[in-house]
Amino acid sequence: MSALQTLSAAATLPVRFVRGQGAQLFDDADTPYWDFYGGHAVALLGQSHPAWVAAIHMQAQTLSFVSTVAPLDVRDRANAELCAFTGMDQAFLVNSGAEANEAALKIARKATGRTVIVAMERGFHGRTMACLGVTHSGHYRSDHSPVHGEVRFVPPGDEAALAAAMGPDVAGIIVEPIQGIAGVIPMPEGYLTRCRALCDVHGAVLIMDEVQTGVGRTGLPLASHIEPTARPDLVTVGKSLGGGFPVAALLLSRAMADTTKPGEHGSTFGGGPLACAALLATLEIIQTEALMAKAKAFEAKIRGGDFTGVVQVRGAGCLLGLVMDQPAGPIKNALLDHGILVGTSNDKNCLRLCPPAAMPDEGVDALQAALAAVCG
Ligand code: PLP
Repeated sequence: MSALQTLSAAATLPVRFVRGQGAQLFDDADTPYWDFYGGHAVALLGQSHPAWVAAIHMQAQTLSFVSTVAPLDVRDRANAELCAFTGMDQAFLVNSGAEANEAALKIARKATGRTVIVAMERGFHGRTMACLGVTHSGHYRSDHSPVHGEVRFVPPGDEAALAAAMGPDVAGIIVEPIQGIAGVIPMPEGYLTRCRALCDVHGAVLIMDEVQTGVGRTGLPLASHIEPTARPDLVTVGKSLGGGFPVAALLLSRAMADTTKPGEHGSTFGGGPLACAALLATLEIIQTEALMAKAKAFEAKIRGGDFTGVVQVRGAGCLLGLVMDQPAGPIKNALLDHGILVGTSNDKNCLRLCPPAAMPDEGVDALQAALAAVCG
């Protein structure tokens, strides 16, 4: 593995996975692990779902690549299904969450003719330069300072601070409805609606970063749907969207779409046939296999269970933060020896769970037994 790829993870795991099935991963000695991490919140369908495999296989046999220079049925269907699923009006397909956020920032600036972005303390929006500009958290930003962009950070949930940060120079607000990397911290009830209202007052654009929370993971198509009055202008999704195939999207309201013109933005691989086939299969599986209901059932099981060392559960569906009574890093490492893979976050006491939606009871029981052994 290259040094940079190793550096991109907080710590590399002492295990080499060679195959996966459903909610389990297997290492090179065929030892099984319950996957409560989902590859940075990607594997909402679990590993190698047969319908997802078949869709990619069939698309690869039929037409492997045509860029957006030509219209494409599979892309038209992917855009239409994604808009229908999320309630947005137009989709622009790209390859990563950061690329989707870059596009959102560009459009917010161009639509308003302004440059300042209001962003949240603790927030994370990706590792490209413009995304780092609006990312507040930890080393991602400070390792590369000075970073680009005019940004005003506000403490999430503080409505007075938000109101004070707004003004005639603000192009938009960018906010994660649940801050994932910060430690799975939901915005307080009513805050997203307040963001909407202040954007309306000041003629700014509301960007909802749903890269981690999006497309069913929290039990809703978008986590921001919990506050229907928040009505974002722009939404970014990625991670779960391709079921493991790299695809992300910028979703636009009609009014935002009307500010754009063809050729203004582009991406060579964005909206390629394989990505579109993977996206379509993912959305279909989420709906036909009731994965949003399963995500909620998973949350209920965790909230209703007795898990040693857990003092608080935050988040929704299959994006949960288990706040522990001790540092999470050593617990994560010890759980691995018990066949359990979990994530951590920037909150040092918080274990981050982002499992496949169809995590069986057996997996939750294994997590419970492993926490009792490690934290008891
Ligand atoms: N936005 C949020 C909220 C994220 O959690 C992430 C990745 O963790 C990103 C953006 C960046 O996504 P990507 O790594 O696909 O560029």
